[in-house]
Amino acid sequence: MSAEIKFEVDFMLGKLATALRMLGFNTKYVKYKKSEAILSDSLKENRILLTRAHNLPENPNIFIIESENLDQQLKEVDSKFKIKSKLKPFTRCLICNTSLEVIPKSKVKGKVPFYVYQTHQEFAYCKECHKFYWKGTHYQAMLEKIRKLNNS
Ligand SMILES: [Zn+2]
Repeated sequence: MSAEIKFEVDFMLGKLATALRMLGFNTKYVKYKKSEAILSDSLKENRILLTRAHNLPENPNIFIIESENLDQQLKEVDSKFKIKSKLKPFTRCLICNTSLEVIPKSKVKGKVPFYVYQTHQEFAYCKECHKFYWKGTHYQAMLEKIRKLNNS
């Protein structure tokens, strides 16, 4: 395995964590830990720690996010880690970060709303939280994010 970029995001950046998962990045989101504990966790798993905390020890694996605006935050991450060139949208569960499995349309019948079944062709599934994904509103929001990233 080559160097897939992995992130760990602390409790102050929940929206950024979801957006990164939407774009297909392996992103761990940590809510109930102190910054120091999150840092040691991220080092152990070789993840880049994205945080707003300025009080952590100097470490090349820490990247401090300055903006409070999500689109700006994505630009900050992109300027450092070039995420634009590594996008894998629609591949990761927004809730638990698990890699999604693509499933054929025939298997989602009766498991997603009828309207969704009728109007979508591509579906994916998270085997951890048993959630189905399709290219609906989340996907549109994600495309919008990518568009804004490209507009910089
Ligand atoms: Zn999941």
